[in-house]
Amino acid sequence: MAESEFDIIRHYFAGHRAGRDDVLVGIGDDAALLQVPPGRVLAVCMDTLVAGVHFPLETTAAAIGHKSLAVNLSDLAAMGAEPAWATLALTLPESDPAWLEEFSGAFFALADRYAVQLVGGDTTCGPLVITVQAHGFVTPGKALLRQGARPGERIYVTGTLGDAGLALRMNEPGDTWLRMRLDFPQPRIEAGLVLREYASAAIDISDGLLADLGHLLEGDRLGASLRIDALPRSEAFQAVMKTMDPERQRLFYELPLSAGDDYELCFTVAEKYCGEMEARLAGVPGGCQWIGVVEAAPGIRCYRDDGTSYRPAVTGYQHFSGTS
Ligand code: ADP
Ligand code: MG
Repeated sequence: MAESEFDIIRHYFAGHRAGRDDVLVGIGDDAALLQVPPGRVLAVCMDTLVAGVHFPLETTAAAIGHKSLAVNLSDLAAMGAEPAWATLALTLPESDPAWLEEFSGAFFALADRYAVQLVGGDTTCGPLVITVQAHGFVTPGKALLRQGARPGERIYVTGTLGDAGLALRMNEPGDTWLRMRLDFPQPRIEAGLVLREYASAAIDISDGLLADLGHLLEGDRLGASLRIDALPRSEAFQAVMKTMDPERQRLFYELPLSAGDDYELCFTVAEKYCGEMEARLAGVPGGCQWIGVVEAAPGIRCYRDDGTSYRPAVTGYQHFSGTS
């Protein structure tokens, strides 16, 4: 590496402060010393991005810097946690100042938006791999868990679904807005904080709605019916769909069910809270859309708006629903 590990840390990562008084010792010592506010507990999560596996090799350094933190903040959002700190393990094939400048710039731009302080990490040489750990605060008993949904409750998602999946699958130079959805996912922190008061269960959608809603339901051995026509599809998504032949259209129609990487929240709310919850979420980024209902019978059943049942072609569905 042109710059030593020590130079990289000092140059790109050590100088940036979020001005938090709960960081007693940050970057520079053998470990960080952090103060959790009285009466609150830590929510801790970690996600690794491997080049060529979790993002295409041509992804910009800015997108990687943003996304490595965003996917972790999305996990905190799904817990209803208030973000506070992060650590960063960076494995780099080479020390490239332009790349590091861009990466750290985008990382801190997102961190600053939520007053997240980078408090430590590790820097090594090797194939490009980025691991971020994020820490947030929750009040005991108030966190949003995957478990807790009940039959009859409504299922909602924030934002729109399938955008990132479509961007990944478009061979031609893609629509810029869709590419932004893939490269710069917006963690739904504000929605998660509101949902602490209303949601019985929540998860963030990293692997696709069917898979992640499946995780939410399986702990309580529940199922769901989904209105596939009601899944929120962005204008950009719909515009690209219109240009496709009917066969591809049918395939891509299901992307909001199966495609990952959107980092929206999926959550359940008892009917009596839905009106108030919808009004509150109308004022936060992403908003929300009612897409289905929790049912006692395991399996996820999809319906068209004309009442006919719809059997997705996507893999994983049959496995979860228990039908062949
Ligand atoms: P040690 O050898 O004691 O583990 P390091 O030389 O690895 O210490 O790291 C020195 C300091 O820099 C530590 O406080 C560590 O947390 C921090 N650090 C190292 N790499 C990063 C990074 N990529 N981002 C943020 N902090 C880092
Ligand atoms: Mg170390």
